[in-house]
Amino acid sequence: MATEWNWEALPKSLAIYLWNSGSCNGCDSEFFALSGPRYDLERLGIQRVDSPCHADVLVVSGPVIASEAEMLRQIHSQMADPKIVIAIGACAVSGGIFRASRCLAGPLDAVLPVDVYVQGCPPRPEALIEGLTRAVIDLEGRRKSMEGRSLS
Ligand code: SF4
Repeated sequence: MATEWNWEALPKSLAIYLWNSGSCNGCDSEFFALSGPRYDLERLGIQRVDSPCHADVLVVSGPVIASEAEMLRQIHSQMADPKIVIAIGACAVSGGIFRASRCLAGPLDAVLPVDVYVQGCPPRPEALIEGLTRAVIDLEGRRKSMEGRSLS
């Protein structure tokens, strides 16, 4: 069931950092399609950034090969709180077709705390937008809770 969200009410823009941790590029291609004229994600106030330091959301594709695990932890540690991690595609969610490989440190939740899982091989752009919707809701909840803590 689709999550209810009024995009007009997006209180702040959302900055996304995308990391490929061993994907076949299928998931990334679908994600890049969000920036094209058909989905035009920027009209919703969501844009990709080139540095994790500027990102609210870390989106990860691929099964997390062992050599990527430490890099992913470093990327995550560079992001300011509150932050959200989204695993996109069967490989990031569960290891997918690579899950029996000895070369993996993943799936993603074996390496980082994952907030949103988007299934599919690859997930369709609509499913990715649904995942981003959940990220917006989670992020706003965390922002409010952090503001509440700083006021008390
Ligand atoms: S989930 Fe499918 S499309 Fe995405 S990285 Fe894995 S094999 Fe490729």
